[in-house]
Amino acid sequence: MTIQWFPGHMAKARREVTEQLKLVDIVFELVDARLPLSSRNPMIDEVIQHKPRLLILNKADLADSSETTRWIQYFKNEGTPAVAINSFQGQGLQAVTKAAKEILEPRIERMRKRGIRPGAIRAMIVGIPNVGKSTLINRLAKKNVAKTGNKPGVTKAQQWIKYGKELELLDTPGILWPKFEDKEAGYKLAITGAIKDTLLNMEDLALYGLRFLEQKYPNRLMERYGISTVGTEQDEIIKLFDHIGARRNVYTTGGEVDYDKVSEFIVQDIRNELLGKLTFDSVEDK
Ligand code: GDP
Repeated sequence: MTIQWFPGHMAKARREVTEQLKLVDIVFELVDARLPLSSRNPMIDEVIQHKPRLLILNKADLADSSETTRWIQYFKNEGTPAVAINSFQGQGLQAVTKAAKEILEPRIERMRKRGIRPGAIRAMIVGIPNVGKSTLINRLAKKNVAKTGNKPGVTKAQQWIKYGKELELLDTPGILWPKFEDKEAGYKLAITGAIKDTLLNMEDLALYGLRFLEQKYPNRLMERYGISTVGTEQDEIIKLFDHIGARRNVYTTGGEVDYDKVSEFIVQDIRNELLGKLTFDSVEDK
């Protein structure tokens, strides 16, 4: 899905989320596990305010698992409970319910003490485009499509999806905008495919990818492209482009390496996991 974000759309998106928030006990903030910071909405704290929140690192199957563990610990230390899932294959879904129950436990306990039987936890998913909101909703809906509309206070026909006995999820996620003012985040979103119609040029994106790999995963770069050393200097980068171009046999009609094609190869290789599972946001950089 591609959305052009304009101030009017942003205000509307925010208003819609604010309305939906009134209906739920907890917010599931969905992010891409490869970019636990860069794929967050820049105003998320302001939008969600004091509503209990579970941060869900989705697409964990594509991320570097040791980095994911560190990120979860980081968020926990910050006071934000977080879990990692793969909603594509439905891995980690139990952990979502479990964590939501833990977060809401004090409230549930208070209700019990007052003799009120707590009902199912009502939740909604919020996140920027392409983090997997629909995939997760469809996953959760798969077994238990018991739609319960017409709740008091529900204006539009908001539908709820039941997941087991303990969780009810709004079937429409809150869609917020990405961090498009942060150039670095822009590169990361583009290289993971979160922003498709990117305004960044392919060569810049490939360069960003190579520099990142050289710093964080040099061995994978060497293995994939059959090189023995890597460096970040401009001439070394050009050498690497030439090397990849020669290996893939892509030349312009003038007989020079076709840098556009090489750039596309590099970006596609990264997106297609040919350089392994990658996490672009690092706890250390924080
Ligand atoms: P939304 O815009 O947030 O609703 O995102 P979608 O649910 O449309 O997902 C965007 C893309 O990410 C789709 O191609 C999904 O198949 C893919 N996707 C979603 N969740 C996962 C996941 O856990 N792992 C992987 N590998 N891909 C996922």
